[in-house]
Amino acid sequence: MLNRATEFLDFFIRDYLKDRDQLNVVDATTGNGNDSLKMLKAMKSNSFLTGFDIQGKALENTDELLRQEAFENYRLIEDGHENIGEYFSAYSVDFIIYNLGYLPKGDKKIYTQTSKTLKSLRSAMNLLKRKGLIAVVTYPGYEPGAHEHMEVLKFLKEVGQKEFNIFHGNFINQKNNPPNLFLIERR
Ligand code: SAM
Repeated sequence: MLNRATEFLDFFIRDYLKDRDQLNVVDATTGNGNDSLKMLKAMKSNSFLTGFDIQGKALENTDELLRQEAFENYRLIEDGHENIGEYFSAYSVDFIIYNLGYLPKGDKKIYTQTSKTLKSLRSAMNLLKRKGLIAVVTYPGYEPGAHEHMEVLKFLKEVGQKEFNIFHGNFINQKNNPPNLFLIERR
């Protein structure tokens, strides 16, 4: 089945991470850890994942999930992804996922903030290696997710194509403004 932006993203996770050595991978919105788990399953054990979330509970859930699967090649940081630049140097990161919005089954009042998301994306694009990839899932089906989606779209449209390839996809025949996927590749 292919009916959600996140399922479409799963193809890129598998394709990008498989059979590659010593990748530096980031989950910028760890949440309940599902994306982190998918990435850890796709990547080799000599690669390393760093996860960020502002909610301690989310990081606890993620840690429990990853430990159950016996993964050890990861660290979880209770900090906003807008500070991502403090943890990595330029041209050092291979793959970053942003799954924006609020934590499913969590507190819906805690969601990604547009200004912080844009700040984080700017930093993340500097941290990316050449041929590295950032994936962003936006949620225009709820407000303020719709505003965040429009601002991400506006920002990415203005990025110079000499340095980055940027793809934007969504399901055009679904109602209620389904999630969108953006892919940002450093050339
Ligand atoms: N990737 C998650 C998963 O697989 O379960 C889903 C992520 S959920 C849609 C969005 C998450 O972003 C929430 O857990 C929320 O706490 C987190 N978040 C909100 N603002 C953040 C920020 N500034 N930095 C990092 N995480 C943030």
